[in-house]
Amino acid sequence: MKGGSMEELKPCPFCGGEARLEDLGYPHHVYCISCGVGVTGVGCGIEGEASACEKWNRRINGWIPVSDPPKEKDKYLCCLWRNTKKKEKGVRSLLWNGTEFEFEPGMRAWGVISWMPLPATDVRGDI
Ligand SMILES: [Zn+2]
Repeated sequence: MKGGSMEELKPCPFCGGEARLEDLGYPHHVYCISCGVGVTGVGCGIEGEASACEKWNRRINGWIPVSDPPKEKDKYLCCLWRNTKKKEKGVRSLLWNGTEFEFEPGMRAWGVISWMPLPATDVRGDI
């Protein structure tokens, strides 16, 4: 930590929103100003703030936003999707073709917010 400045917070993995460090005392939280998801740091003072920022940047439960796309193509990945009209949310495996996620080969997947690698098994299609 240099000069008490916080490391830069990455955008929210669920909505791409801006993250803020809430510094109203113990415990310290980093949260998304758009959708409100957040993480809590361990420890107090500058240590707690640094821990909250580090936790946020490691991504919430491992979810990575689609603004940070997968590097390997033609791979099934675990995806969090959202239908903004019906306010539905879900998780399923989708094929990443190198450009976008597909529901079925050749069919575009809409509303994918974030992704993470599948567990280390040979999973195809729906989990
Ligand atoms: Zn958000």
